Amino acid sequence: MAEPARETIYALSSGRPPAAIAVVRISGPHAGEALKTLTGKVPAPRTAMLTRIRGCEGEAVDQALVLWFPAPHSETGEDVVELQLHGGRAVIASVFVALSQIAGLRPAEAGEFSRRAFENGKLDLTAVEGLADLVMAETEGQRRLAFRQMTGVLGNRAENWRTQLIQALALIEAGIDFSDEADVPQDLVAPALQIARTLEGEIGSVLADSGRGERLREGLVVAIAGPPNAGKSTLLNRIARREAAIVSPYAGTTRDVIEVHLDLGGLPVTLLDTAGIRETTDPIELEGVRRARERATAADLVLWVVDAGDPTTGSMDLSAPAEKESLTTPIWLIRNKIDLLRDRRRNEDQCQSKRSNESDGRFTESLTGVVNNQSTRTNEPEFRSSETKFNVSAVSGEGVDALLTALTRHAETFLVGGESALVTRERHRRALEGARDALRRALGHDIASREDLLAEELQTAARALGRLTGRVDVEDILDVIFRDFCIGK
Ligand code: GDP
Repeated sequence: MAEPARETIYALSSGRPPAAIAVVRISGPHAGEALKTLTGKVPAPRTAMLTRIRGCEGEAVDQALVLWFPAPHSETGEDVVELQLHGGRAVIASVFVALSQIAGLRPAEAGEFSRRAFENGKLDLTAVEGLADLVMAETEGQRRLAFRQMTGVLGNRAENWRTQLIQALALIEAGIDFSDEADVPQDLVAPALQIARTLEGEIGSVLADSGRGERLREGLVVAIAGPPNAGKSTLLNRIARREAAIVSPYAGTTRDVIEVHLDLGGLPVTLLDTAGIRETTDPIELEGVRRARERATAADLVLWVVDAGDPTTGSMDLSAPAEKESLTTPIWLIRNKIDLLRDRRRNEDQCQSKRSNESDGRFTESLTGVVNNQSTRTNEPEFRSSETKFNVSAVSGEGVDALLTALTRHAETFLVGGESALVTRERHRRALEGARDALRRALGHDIASREDLLAEELQTAARALGRLTGRVDVEDILDVIFRDFCIGK
């Protein structure tokens, strides 16, 4: 049955104008015709041609490179035209007006080119996800992970498993459907079970990656928390101002959490400032605060910032008592404002020198000693388990480099091995778990003699894998049965 004719779509595929070059893509059955309308000709496939682009009145609007990718050898699998225009707003606007007047053309919706690539079998779902991740990748580690995914490392593996499952199913279905005996012959069931056993092991070992791929994709999430006025926002700003570290500072999804994305040694680290978490009775704000708190407590690491000179701070209060107990997250104690301690000490030194005749050398302890003495009284009981403590000044920047170095090291440990992981999303994990669980049931004793149930579980596993790549299709199960077995009954 012929598919209904699809609309031809077009969009600006490059970044925001004005720019040196703007890439406009056109995909669909009218792409070639559109190119002819704009330029009067169609170049040889996949060969760049420099030509005049004409607007809707026939006037020349630009001189541009154009490329013609006839179906199916194109990104979307359809006829595709790529225009490399000069990237001025007026140029793009004129070309868009001209395109809008060609019958059968319309502006593309978000993600529509990739969607067509998927529908035309150019990309499986995991590759589409990898492509999206590649565009969004902020660090080298994330880029490598996304690139592997886009090139089908997970998708191909899943397809391979699914093909084997379909072969196993074919064996059993053949036995059920075509056996004259009451029982399905064991020489059909045994190899099917062997396939199921092998796949259960392989899928299990991919799942046993401790979530490393998901972690790398998300990055190490670090919440900055602590009592009000300890200097959390100042510390975040201080870190964010380091050009080398910063990727993109932007306000978070709720107004209660500020996020800063860092690239530490190629690894993604997101810092969350929870300073906005506050007491409120406004129901909408309460929801925001609840989410902010949830985000902070779900962090992979907490930097608990205290004012090193304030003996009243340091109690670990996230304003929700239950959270403290539920925090299994590592906590680093950050003693901030050590510059004030130095100032205080200087004052004390001055006072002391006035009383120099009374001096007995009691003020010879190091700055660190002062910091420790000042803060240990109240903080130590809370942080006895915390090995990691830092003395910093968010205002002067002192100690911040050491903190960043430690964060980098922590990110390395936390995200180690992520790049080679196959599972990068919860969706993948759920699909693979679905497949593995079905295989386990298939291998269970209770259905060993029930080939119909066995077939059902194998089908469930195959469907789960099909959902992973987006290629669920029962037709191919039947295809394999009739092609491989050719049972002429
Ligand atoms: P937050 O409520 O924890 O986010 O605290 P802020 O970052 O708003 O800081 C509270 C006050 O402490 C501000 O006036 C800051 O300028 C000051 N402050 C923060 N860090 C330091 C520091 O390292 N040294 C000094 N002297 N003042 C600081």
